Amino acid sequence: MEKCHIRKNDMVVVIAGGDRGRTGKVLRVLRNQGKAIVERINFIKKHSRPNPQRNIKGGIMEREAPIDISNLRVICAECGASKGFNNKTLEDGRKVRICKACGGQVSKTA
Ligand SMILES: [Zn+2]
Repeated sequence: MEKCHIRKNDMVVVIAGGDRGRTGKVLRVLRNQGKAIVERINFIKKHSRPNPQRNIKGGIMEREAPIDISNLRVICAECGASKGFNNKTLEDGRKVRICKACGGQVSKTA
């Protein structure tokens, strides 16, 4: 399934919602929620109350909120295409993804 292919450090494009068309790097994959946190995508403003005991100043904090993996598509960090990828196993056993558009390696998995 396509949505299982998103991994940490992948470049993704948002294909639905308010951030549609924006790209960013995957910071975290929340696999059990089917969501991912993507750099600079889906910012939410969070109001926090001052709490001197915990050294929290309070105010408005902006941070990334998890976004549905189904709203994301992995793109090639080399050429920016989202045509998909072929899985390939290297001679040393590492699995890599090969961009269908430019033939470049997208990312490695341990
Ligand atoms: Zn490419």
